[in-house]
Amino acid sequence: MEETYRIKAIILNRKPFRESDLSVSVYSAEMGKQVLVARGAKKFRSKAAAHLEPICLTEIMVVRGKQFDYIGSAVSDNCFIKIKENLEKIEAAGRAVFWLNKLVKEGESDQQIFELLKEYLETLDKINLKIESESFANFFILKLLENLGYRPELHQCVLCKNKILPGGNSYNFLKSGLVCKSCSKTENFLTVSDDCIKLLRVILDKKFAILNNIKASESLIIETKNVINAVLDHL
Ligand SMILES: [Zn+2]
Repeated sequence: MEETYRIKAIILNRKPFRESDLSVSVYSAEMGKQVLVARGAKKFRSKAAAHLEPICLTEIMVVRGKQFDYIGSAVSDNCFIKIKENLEKIEAAGRAVFWLNKLVKEGESDQQIFELLKEYLETLDKINLKIESESFANFFILKLLENLGYRPELHQCVLCKNKILPGGNSYNFLKSGLVCKSCSKTENFLTVSDDCIKLLRVILDKKFAILNNIKASESLIIETKNVINAVLDHL
């Protein structure tokens, strides 16, 4: 007898698999990240395939298999149409999903990560995106890193443990956090402005809809984006 279970998953990506199948990466609250096989791509090219498009929230009935779990049926709940009508939003969603797929291991379920991704996509779908796509995706990535246990230390110096005060601080990627002014003198770390430190704290604290309306200069947005990119480079 076949054993089945149901998940509500966000489709991360999909690619051709074997002769006529699709391999579909999904993230669900129930199971975390999984790679499922959709048997018979021809069959799935029609109606069901639309429900398995990347960046869709889809209800999937999964059939347990010996080697792989298979997609028995798939019905999309939300395909985030307004993301797909807008190139900037597609880029912002694509970058977020790419990094989630890269950073999250299979089979570790985490309700908070699922909710974070869902909130991000729902917000992106609704808003008039005011932040450049890579920066907006980096807001998601920073929150994702926090959820994965890589929260950057933004309040005390990672070297001497003193409270971070305004002026002359830098970022130490090996220790994942800020270095105070006096410790920054001893070694060469990436200098971080006070406004950038504030913005990093705000990103971790606020919801995406609020972050979209943040009042920040273009240079501050770029500095913050570069710090988050550098964090990713050092993972
Ligand atoms: Zn210090």
